[in-house]
Amino acid sequence: MSRFWNPDLQNLSPYVPGEQPKLEKLVKLNTNESPYGPSPKALAAIAQANNDNLRLYPDPDAKDLKEVIAKHHGITSNKVFVGNGSDEVLAHAFLGLLKHPNRPVLFPDISYSFYPVYCQLFGIEHRTIALDDQFAVRVEDYLELSKQYGGNGGIIFPNPNAPTGCGLPLSQVELLLLQNTDSIVVIDEAYVDYGTESCVPLLQNNPPNLLITHTLSKSRALAGLRVGYALGHPDLITGLERVKNSFNSYPLGRLAQVGAIAAMEDQAHLDAMSSKVMTTRSQFVKELDVLGFETLPSSANFVFTRHPKHDGARIHQALRDRGIIVRHFKTKRIDQFLRITIGTDEQMSAFLAALKEILSV
Ligand SMILES: *Cc1c(COP(=O)(O)O)cnc(C)c1O
Repeated sequence: MSRFWNPDLQNLSPYVPGEQPKLEKLVKLNTNESPYGPSPKALAAIAQANNDNLRLYPDPDAKDLKEVIAKHHGITSNKVFVGNGSDEVLAHAFLGLLKHPNRPVLFPDISYSFYPVYCQLFGIEHRTIALDDQFAVRVEDYLELSKQYGGNGGIIFPNPNAPTGCGLPLSQVELLLLQNTDSIVVIDEAYVDYGTESCVPLLQNNPPNLLITHTLSKSRALAGLRVGYALGHPDLITGLERVKNSFNSYPLGRLAQVGAIAAMEDQAHLDAMSSKVMTTRSQFVKELDVLGFETLPSSANFVFTRHPKHDGARIHQALRDRGIIVRHFKTKRIDQFLRITIGTDEQMSAFLAALKEILSV
């Protein structure tokens, strides 16, 4: 702390990302990165753009990238916003679209832990809504509680949810959108490529209040490049552009733009890597079942699991001692769970071998 800080800084509790240790030998299953490389075409495009043109500013509007994203999703490019990772896109959405003078933003009690951080940073009031006892989002609860609160300033949740991995059927998102017409609904589809129905098709009817965010960090294996985007009604996109152009005109560098374009165009690579992860996931869950774990149904590149007889924090530490890192949250309701990223088959075997050792002591 310093007396030169803005006093508000003192009261912030910033987001704590999963660690990125330097040790190469670790089995790193803690931040939901892809265990496979990005599209070779993306790497080639970045290598080619790594030249003297870097002295020039990038296109502030990332027009070519927006065109490619629009084409990929079968929409027009005025429905696309891009940013430096979807975290930045979400930050702009909170500030520009989810800040209401006297109604709270609603999101699940167990969800992406960056949401409350943005609320705090931007002074946005929020209420959390408990997941049901199956750890699922119940749309009815949002509609009912919203009435009690006299409306809401917006609703946001990931689909599939994080860190649970549970997906919500498209029909439920549609229901929410039909009933919640006075505020925006943001669906964070960071993990949508691993088996959840995307709500992008809902954009065909041009709803005024649906915003969908995607990232290239997970299924496209480009967490290091920092590219995310939002899709929605052109008026929402214009709102996000106003925030972005009041903060940083150039969130995406030249290398990020060309790499993202090539990655978005390489559907074959995305499909192959996603299906590999899903195959590994179903095998891995079977192995966890045999060991007595209770695993939530996952449509993400991670699983959320607990053992009825072994303490989550203890397993987490014992894995660490063996060079395997997974994520554990010291949070009410989920402090017995581990969130385990789906890695390669070899990594999952190493994980299971260590786990068996730990459970037998
Ligand atoms: C990983 C993640 C993001 C952010 O990803 P970026 O790397 O910032 O694009 C957003 N939402 C959820 C739920 C995530 O897990």
